Amino acid sequence: MAAAAAPVPAPEPGRAPPAKATPVPTPATLTYWEGTRAGELRLQRCGGCGRARFYPRPACPHCGSVEFAWFKASGRGRLHSYIINHLPPPGFEADVPYVVAAVELEEGPRMMANLVDVAPVPEALALDMALEVRFVPRGQQMLPVFRPARGAAA
Ligand code: ZN
Repeated sequence: MAAAAAPVPAPEPGRAPPAKATPVPTPATLTYWEGTRAGELRLQRCGGCGRARFYPRPACPHCGSVEFAWFKASGRGRLHSYIINHLPPPGFEADVPYVVAAVELEEGPRMMANLVDVAPVPEALALDMALEVRFVPRGQQMLPVFRPARGAAA
């Protein structure tokens, strides 16, 4: 005989809702997170092949070189792809639906980020639309998000 599934416990009265996950900087990402707190999107440029990369890491994914320098990216990009999330992870129950985008940065790399200041419906989300970064607080960090670029043609 199969055991009955355990009932989902009801939330305890007065218990705080789950907190949103917050990034924890590592030695490899500390400069990146210091940048977001300064209102800058910082990328690494390889000293071997010259290509920009994201996410931050010690070695180039293209040529393997460990030589690199940080630089301030333009913060501009284009909407490469997206999903509209209706299934919130813990802490995001009040945020759904929201847009998770793959943004192709002007410098070349693609990064995942939430899209804000736009309706979370396909009719409002044109692929290749111009985007710009902004930063929103989460815990001790500032997280990059993107919005439609101001003054860009629709
Ligand atoms: Zn390289």
